[in-house]
Amino acid sequence: MKFNVVCRTLRLAASITIGIAAPGTGEAHGSRMTDARVLDGTKIANEIKAEVAAEVELLAGQGIRPGLAAVLVGNVPASQIYVRSKVKTCAELGLFSELITPPDTVTTEEMLELVASLNAREDIDGILIQLPLPPQVNAKLLLEAVNPAKDVDGFHPVNVGKVQSGQPALAPCTPAGMIQILKRSGLPIAGQNAVVIGRSDIVGKPIAMLLLQENATVTICHSKTHNLAGHARGADILVAAIGRAGFVTPDMVKPGATILDVGINRITEHEEFDKFFAGDVRREELFLLKGSTLIGDVHPAAYAVSGAYTPVPGGVGPLTIAMLMSNTVRAAKLRRGLPV
Ligand code: NDP
Repeated sequence: MKFNVVCRTLRLAASITIGIAAPGTGEAHGSRMTDARVLDGTKIANEIKAEVAAEVELLAGQGIRPGLAAVLVGNVPASQIYVRSKVKTCAELGLFSELITPPDTVTTEEMLELVASLNAREDIDGILIQLPLPPQVNAKLLLEAVNPAKDVDGFHPVNVGKVQSGQPALAPCTPAGMIQILKRSGLPIAGQNAVVIGRSDIVGKPIAMLLLQENATVTICHSKTHNLAGHARGADILVAAIGRAGFVTPDMVKPGATILDVGINRITEHEEFDKFFAGDVRREELFLLKGSTLIGDVHPAAYAVSGAYTPVPGGVGPLTIAMLMSNTVRAAKLRRGLPV
């Protein structure tokens, strides 16, 4: 079966990044307006991308050009935006990329055949299969068919195991990016109480494992956890990866804690907007203009209690693509036995 193969630089409209002005709700906790530090994910992602571009240039001197194959099945609009911006970033940083677009009628067998051909290609170092896949495709089987050495999403059980045992591996991009935010912001991890809310394979579990490797004392909370607020209040580093708008409220945050807000939730109702952002005039103007706004899993008032936090948008989100680029270069080096 032949798939559409597109190799090109895509020009997407630059997305607007809006910093959240955390409202000063500190009074409810007996303190003044917030001095919480905003952890600028866009800036950190740009630093990482610049380092990747420099590495790509060095590798070019050795005749190596790291290559990413991005597989986008069907016409899911959000997936199209994500994948195109990944392909565009490859072009910007000097990586080779190939966009492969099977139709949404594709079968598991056809996808397995495609993965086998990408596994065998010398010019491809990373294979990205954009999720979600159509229901007839066995996603688990497919992700396990990717050569672990090319698994730049870090979802293959071999990479999961290697991350767990501290061996050189390809770690999942979003959690790896979150560690970079902490390290590059000079925030301590070793010895800190880290509480992760959410236990998905993509975010919760891997970030817990990476924090543990950095010598944090880690607690993982989920929907069956008793006294979740009590656990959260003990956190020096609080990770919210739940998928529920404004779930973490000010009473759940230890004053001065670091908050990593992974959630991306879209709000479209004005009533809900007022619940979280009443008084934020700039955001309301944009909300009325666009008909929606994004909010994380942390209530904006809870940011005010923290010492530092990642905003939504512009916090954790930008790191995902930067780390995908970094993982592709890492995969290219590991596969050739070069030091990483
Ligand atoms: P999942 O839906 O896979 O997992 C959500 C987790 O939250 C589950 O472990 C679930 O617990 C837990 N949870 C749900 N409700 C509650 C509750 N009431 N109390 C306690 N725990 C609860 O989500 P993901 O991990 O994939 O994503 C989480 C968020 O992060 C989403 O908003 C997503 O859009 C965003 N995201 C952002 C990325 C980025 O910035 N680049 C990348 C990936 C995700 P249980 O296991 O018990 O059901």
